Amino acid sequence: MATRRKIKILFAAAEAVPFSKTGGLGDVAGSLPKALKEAGAKVAVITPKYSTIAWEYQEKMVHVADFYVPLAWRSIYCGIEKLTYDGVDFYFVDNEAYFKRDGLYGYFDDGERYAFFSKAICEAIAKLPELQCDVLNCNDWQTAMAPVFLREFYQESEACRNVKTVFTVHNVKFQGQFSDKVLNDILGLADIPAARDQLYCDRESINYMKGALCYSDTISTVSPSYAGELQMPFYGEGLDGIFRDRAWCLHGILNGIDTVSWDPQHDDAIAKKYSIKRMAGKAECKAALQEELGLRVDPERPLVVMIGRLTNQKGLGLVRYAMDKIMSRSIQVAILGTGDKDQEDAFKYFDWKYGDMMCARIAFDGALSRRMYAGGDILLMPSEFEPCGLSQMIAMRYGTLPVVRETGGLQDSVVPYNQYTGEGTGFRFANMNGDEMADTLIGACELFWTDKDAWKQLQKQAMETDFSWSRAAQDYLNMYYELHPELKK
Ligand code: ADP
Repeated sequence: MATRRKIKILFAAAEAVPFSKTGGLGDVAGSLPKALKEAGAKVAVITPKYSTIAWEYQEKMVHVADFYVPLAWRSIYCGIEKLTYDGVDFYFVDNEAYFKRDGLYGYFDDGERYAFFSKAICEAIAKLPELQCDVLNCNDWQTAMAPVFLREFYQESEACRNVKTVFTVHNVKFQGQFSDKVLNDILGLADIPAARDQLYCDRESINYMKGALCYSDTISTVSPSYAGELQMPFYGEGLDGIFRDRAWCLHGILNGIDTVSWDPQHDDAIAKKYSIKRMAGKAECKAALQEELGLRVDPERPLVVMIGRLTNQKGLGLVRYAMDKIMSRSIQVAILGTGDKDQEDAFKYFDWKYGDMMCARIAFDGALSRRMYAGGDILLMPSEFEPCGLSQMIAMRYGTLPVVRETGGLQDSVVPYNQYTGEGTGFRFANMNGDEMADTLIGACELFWTDKDAWKQLQKQAMETDFSWSRAAQDYLNMYYELHPELKK
C-alpha cells in the first residue's frame, strides 16, 4: 500500500544563491528548492558556511547542532547553522579551517574540504531528525562522495538506510580528481575493494564524480540533449562509458530561470520597461544601449549581443573567424564578458578595428547585462558544449532572438525558425563551423530587415515560452517519486 505524504528532499550543493555563487550550480541551488517546495515536496538545502557569505545572512543564522565528523583517522568539528530564506530552510556546514577562505574552490586541499563536506552531510542525516530525508540530491563533484559514504558507512543507521541518492551533473568538465593518497588518508575507503575499484580513474588517481555516478541510485543532468551527449566520447570527458552503462537511469531535465527577476516588464535596470503587448519600450532600450556602448544609434542595424565567460567552451573561435564577414554586412556586435586573456585581447582588437559597429566590454556587470538583454535584437551563443545555458533563455524572455549551435540545453530551449509555418523562437546551426554560424546569423539579420511581421511574431513566441522553474520542478519530483514507489504524490 502506498503512503500519501510529502516526499522529503535534502538538496546538497557547494554553492547556493544568494549565499555563494561561481556559476549555474549556484543559481539552480538557489531556485529549484523553492520550486520543489511549491510543487509539494518538503525540502531543505545543505551547503558550506563560507566566510564570504554576506554578513547580513551570517548574522541571522541559528546554531542548531555540532558534532565530530570521522574522516579516515581524523575526527573533525562540524557545526550546523540554519537560516530560512524565501521560505526554504538552508543548513550551513561550519568548519573555519575548511571554509574560511577568500574564495570557494581552487585550494590545495579541495579534495579534503569536500570529502569533509560530503561526510558531514551523511552525519547530519544520521544525527538530526530535521534533516532526515527520502532522497538526497547531490550536485557536482563537491558533493559526489556523499552517495559513496552513505552506502559504505551508514547502512547501520536507521535514518540513512532508506535514503535514495540522486546525483546531478552540471558540468562534466569538473570531476574532482585527486591523487590516490586520499583513498586511505582522507576517504578511509582503501580497505573496501568495491569502493577502491569504482573510484580509481587511472593508476594513481581517484575521481569523486566517477564514485557518485557508480553509487547513486539515479543520475540526472541539466538538459535532455546533454544527457545524450554525455554518453559520447567527444563530450563525456572520459566518463562516457559510465554514462552509457547507466543510461537507463540518466534523466535530462532542463533548468529554469528566475522569471520574476528576469522580466522586461518589471526590470528597473533597463531604459524603458516593455512587455509582449507593449513592445515600443524595446526600441528605446536599443537606442539607449547603442548610445551607452558608443555604437551608431540606428534602429535598422541589427544589434547582436553576446554575454558570458570568454572561454573556448563558448565557441568564440567561430566568432573571431567570422568577424570580418559579419561586419561586412553592417551588423553591430556588442560583447560583455571576462575570461581567457587571448579572447579578451581579440575582442578588444575588434572593438578598436570596427569603431562604432563593434563594442567589447571586458567586465562582469549584472546591470549592463540586463540592458544588453533588453537592447539587443539577437543573442549569439555558438557554444562548443552547453550543459544547459541560461543566457539564451533570458534573452528570449526579453524578446532578443538567440542564434545558437545545436548542442545541450541550447538545442532543447531554442525552437528554430521555420519560414513556412512561422514557428520558432530563434535560429540554430549544427556544426562547429565559422561560415555556418555566420550564414545563420546573417540569415537571421535578413529576416530582421525584410520581414518585420515575421520577426515580431518570433519575438512574441520567444517571450511566451515558459522557462519557469515550476516546469522543471515537476520533472524532478517525478524522478524522486520513482525512487520511492511506496510513496504517492
Ligand atoms: P555558464 O554557467 O556556462 O557561465 P550560463 O549561460 O549558464 O553560462 O550562465 C551565465 C550567467 O552569467 C548568465 O546569467 C549571464 O547573464 C551571466 N553572466 C556571464 N558573464 C557575465 C558578465 N560579464 N556580466 C554580467 N553577467 C554575466
